[in-house]
Amino acid sequence: MKTMDDSLNRNVKILIVDDVSLNIQLQRTFLEPCGYTILEARNGEAGLEMARQELPDLVLLDVMMPKMNGFSVCQLLKNDENTRFIPIIMVTALNELEDKIKGIEAGADDFIHKPFNKLELMARVKSLLRIKQLHDQLQDKIQELEHAQAQLRELAITDGLTALYNYRYFHETLIQELERAHRHGLKVSVVILDIDYFKHYNDHNGHPAGNEVLSTIARLLKANIRKNDTAARYGGEEFSVVLVETDKDAANLVAHKIKSLVEAYAFANEEHQPAGKLTISVGVATYPDDFQNLDELVKCADRRLYKAKKNGRNLVVAE
Ligand code: GH3
Ligand code: MG
Ligand code: MG
Repeated sequence: MKTMDDSLNRNVKILIVDDVSLNIQLQRTFLEPCGYTILEARNGEAGLEMARQELPDLVLLDVMMPKMNGFSVCQLLKNDENTRFIPIIMVTALNELEDKIKGIEAGADDFIHKPFNKLELMARVKSLLRIKQLHDQLQDKIQELEHAQAQLRELAITDGLTALYNYRYFHETLIQELERAHRHGLKVSVVILDIDYFKHYNDHNGHPAGNEVLSTIARLLKANIRKNDTAARYGGEEFSVVLVETDKDAANLVAHKIKSLVEAYAFANEEHQPAGKLTISVGVATYPDDFQNLDELVKCADRRLYKAKKNGRNLVVAE
């Protein structure tokens, strides 16, 4: 009588490798009534190939085969990270200690002797399949965990409103890029920008409209830097950009381009802003020309940003 377990077993693949077809037949007779899917190979090479392709849940592997014997197949499967977790039962002709030692050295998980004893065979198969199933479940859980961990890491470095990187990531990136620039004699520029009279904009249009502005500026930033550059939300209404392999002149150009894009962009209700439009002020500092030390470099860009504010806003200051 077929039980529900038997129908589930159809997903369980057992590979029988034996050069004697009668042996394969016999093992089939024992295993097939349980519902397992049985694969077979008539020599070592074919068994190896099939195991690699089909990734069975268990291999019943004859030791004595011409050319490539069972020990070699076992060793090759256990040395391959794609197949090392497939349990292998070595099938030996006699209860020979030497064969067992060789089998253990080759990585075999269990042994069975010919002539086959049905109950013994079934018991060993079931016990190894149980371990394999637990192993598979563990692998799934590990994968889920790794996925969750990657998502968490992404969350930890992303700004929720603008989807740009956050301050933490900006800082990490700048540490790495300054080290790289130091090693290879490269230039790195830091750009910090701040929205002009943003409090005024919020007060007139509400916080949600302000958030829209932040998201738009984030998009403009992202779209106008290179792939290896890093744009981040530095603070509430401040953004920062790490421009790699970029000297002061090139950084100045990028800063002016972004300033002009923001100036030209039609933000909702910007006409009520003091200048009649929404603008940003920008500070630029370059490694190693301005400073070599990270904190000093960032402070320098920040000082220049406030100089831009003092000088009338909607300006870039890079010197
Ligand atoms: P300045 O030109 O000197 O930069 O003037 P400002 O008004 O932009 O500067 P201030 O620092 O006085 O105001 C910054 C404003 O930015 C106040 C704060 O409510 C707003 N702000 C900060 N974070 C957010 C945010 O996440 N969303 C919105 N909508 N507003 C924010
Ligand atoms: Mg501001
Ligand atoms: Mg500010």
